[in-house]
Amino acid sequence: LIIRVSTPSRNYSVRIGRGLLQSCGLLASQLGLENRIVLLHDEAVKMYAYQIIDSLKGYGFKPEIIAIASGEKSKSFRTLEAIVKKLAEMKLDRKSTLLALGGGVTGDLVGFAASIFLRGISFILIPTTLLAMVDSSIGGKTGINLPQGKNLIGSFYQPLEVWIDPEVLHTLSPRLLSAGMAEVIKYGMIAEEKLLEEIEKKEEANLLDLIKRSVEIKAKIVSEDEQEKTGKRAILNFGHTLGHALEAANKYKDLLHGEAIAIGMHAACLLSHWLLSFPLSSIERLKHILQLYSLPLIAKGFSKQAIFHALDLDKKRVQGVNSWILLQSIGFPVISKEVKKADVDRVLKEIVVQG
Ligand code: NAD
Ligand code: ZN
Repeated sequence: LIIRVSTPSRNYSVRIGRGLLQSCGLLASQLGLENRIVLLHDEAVKMYAYQIIDSLKGYGFKPEIIAIASGEKSKSFRTLEAIVKKLAEMKLDRKSTLLALGGGVTGDLVGFAASIFLRGISFILIPTTLLAMVDSSIGGKTGINLPQGKNLIGSFYQPLEVWIDPEVLHTLSPRLLSAGMAEVIKYGMIAEEKLLEEIEKKEEANLLDLIKRSVEIKAKIVSEDEQEKTGKRAILNFGHTLGHALEAANKYKDLLHGEAIAIGMHAACLLSHWLLSFPLSSIERLKHILQLYSLPLIAKGFSKQAIFHALDLDKKRVQGVNSWILLQSIGFPVISKEVKKADVDRVLKEIVVQG
């Protein structure tokens, strides 16, 4: 199964299939990769790294391997420096290829390294979390964090290909799987009511289809606005204005990104109801779906002040105004700069339990 992503900077394929990891060698030789291949992987997915190495060796490749410590702290200058130094020691050339095996952390970090090493070498993303499959691997955003904030350094740099094997999700914790589902639910809310019906069935056999449809939706949106210039890509931020603020107010502890986005979507729907008459029945539908996947509806133990402060620091803020993605109805998003402080106050009253 292949989905094409076309952006002004490059066109590439996202391949999705059960057991795809076993075919990495074949895929690499079909792509005509030169012998220098370096597999960089999250330590937690070492078992899949070995599968890939075996498959590559079967096709005559002699891949090298670099393990990266798990966790957000690896998206740092320090790890980036260690990686590019190793690549230099390996004497890679411009025709070498990096394979990034792991979640969003690995993909963002390795993608950024690929974009700056020798002024850019090619890389292939092999996402191993649901979030990375449906979101971070599509669209070409790479980057690392600064102490001052997340993703403040980075580049737009598209991969050579993306290889998705849903089998690897078997070892992912149920909590991380649910967090990834939050982004799938987001795609249903902003783009495709029919996807929500699929999500509501909650059948494991549907997972591959949910991934495929999510990738298609994100690929389409990104194709229309690769570098976030026309505003089209902004609709992907549905649930994220408040979601990011919750993550920041929470200093990235306790709450996973997808969980923050779940609460953020609930909030955006309430605002949409007050400001755009988004139907109450659709809010109930979202709440039901979030509960189905054990995702939170409200933020417990937060300080409203900290949330307001975080909204003020939102890097997507333009001239002092937060932009909110609201919905007229499911599948019909609007970008709003008209959400007033009083509206935010009202929504926080509904969804924040102070602590
Ligand atoms: P992650 O990469 O940290 O992975 C989450 C955890 O799961 C880690 O502990 C990892 O070791 C473990 N793991 C990964 N795959 C596994 C598997 N198959 N089995 C068992 N354990 C596994 O986090 P994430 O949620 O994948 O991604 C979050 C990151 O993605 C953030 O840094 C965020 O900024 C970034 N992101 C980027 C984009 C983008 O467009 N580039 C979009 C969304 C998020
Ligand atoms: Zn997100």
